[in-house]
Amino acid sequence: MNIHEYQAKELFTQFGVATPAGKVAADAQQALQIAQELGGKGLVVKAQVHAGGRGKGHFTNGFKGGVHVVDSAEKAAEIAGQMIGQTLVTHQTGPEGKLVSKVLIAKSVDIAKEHYFAILFDRASGGHAIIASTEGGMNIEEVAEKTPEKIIKEFVHPTLGLQAYQARKVAAALGLQGSQASQAAKLFSALWNLYLKSDCSLVEINPLAITTDGQVVALDAKFNFDDNALYRQKAVVAMRDTSEEDPREVAASEFGLNYIGLDGNIACLVNGAGLAMSTMDIIKLHGGEPANFLDVGGGATREQVTAAFKIILGDPKVKGILVNIFGGIMVCNVIANGIVAAAQEVGLKIPLVVRLEGNNVEAGKQTLAQSGIDIISADGLTDAAQKVVAAVK
Ligand code: ADP
Ligand code: MG
Repeated sequence: MNIHEYQAKELFTQFGVATPAGKVAADAQQALQIAQELGGKGLVVKAQVHAGGRGKGHFTNGFKGGVHVVDSAEKAAEIAGQMIGQTLVTHQTGPEGKLVSKVLIAKSVDIAKEHYFAILFDRASGGHAIIASTEGGMNIEEVAEKTPEKIIKEFVHPTLGLQAYQARKVAAALGLQGSQASQAAKLFSALWNLYLKSDCSLVEINPLAITTDGQVVALDAKFNFDDNALYRQKAVVAMRDTSEEDPREVAASEFGLNYIGLDGNIACLVNGAGLAMSTMDIIKLHGGEPANFLDVGGGATREQVTAAFKIILGDPKVKGILVNIFGGIMVCNVIANGIVAAAQEVGLKIPLVVRLEGNNVEAGKQTLAQSGIDIISADGLTDAAQKVVAAVK
């Protein structure tokens, strides 16, 4: 799960991570009021979307930049008015862009230097890692690729947590000294607390700015939360903005299904992530393009399977469906019943290829055969992939 920058700022304030004051506005009038409260000058207006690269982005109506530094409350309101209700395109939104419905109005700072700082899960070390760099404000993947020596990495022990000496070490590696080194170390420790207590899987500050008057402040924030811990993060869940998410993924999450929308036209309904991956691979191998990754999991109910089917059929890009089930804990007949129920409810107008194997397969095949639904049955993965690819051509 992700949150907006203005929400991240609230968490920063709560945990003592230094960041310029700011508030969110939903229209120009509100922007004006907030801008006046913040002193009416030295402000920044920032489009709130779940994507980075806003500064260098553009709006589909031609307006340039999702981040504007302004010098009066009136100008802040004017810029807010130009952003709200418009679609912002950045290198992270895809060409279709994202609708901006809110803007952050914050105090602007005079930047002397921009650094990069992040804390994230590090599966390789079985703990957490700090990634930092003096090359802030830029695309960190690019920095890592072109100048890997400019990436600072510090591992954090999963139970000991970030040690004070490590925070100082990273600050020193960024070339910070004196008061700035202590401010940075304090900020890193506060951010570590926030990361741990809020069950984040990533917190990224880009840029972490050094101001011309020597302050160390977080100017931007990207958060990812561990979905498996959301049950104990009520305050975080309350920040969820489903309008920023793929509606198909939102519907799937309501039913406890693992769904990821993709660009192709062959929908895959599969049980188990490994089988989902290999199903997508074999579709590609035979010249097709998967429309999604939909894993109903090990113990799906008939209701979940029906919901899964409806999500697939609700996507106009889908031209064919491949159901690939290996019945283990999941019995084939439950899937078959779900398919029949959903197909009857929604009406099936596209080819459906089904490959069932394993527990209760005979009953499952019988349910499908007796349903009167037009089904192309397949034996094995290759046969299934070839049949569905042929069916959508
Ligand atoms: P994005 O990463 O989506 O482009 P940022 O929040 O990083 O958005 O903003 C882009 C740039 O705008 C930053 O690199 C920084 O130079 C500038 N900026 C952002 N916030 C402020 C601020 N409060 N004061 C001054 N400049 C800012
Ligand atoms: Mg940024």
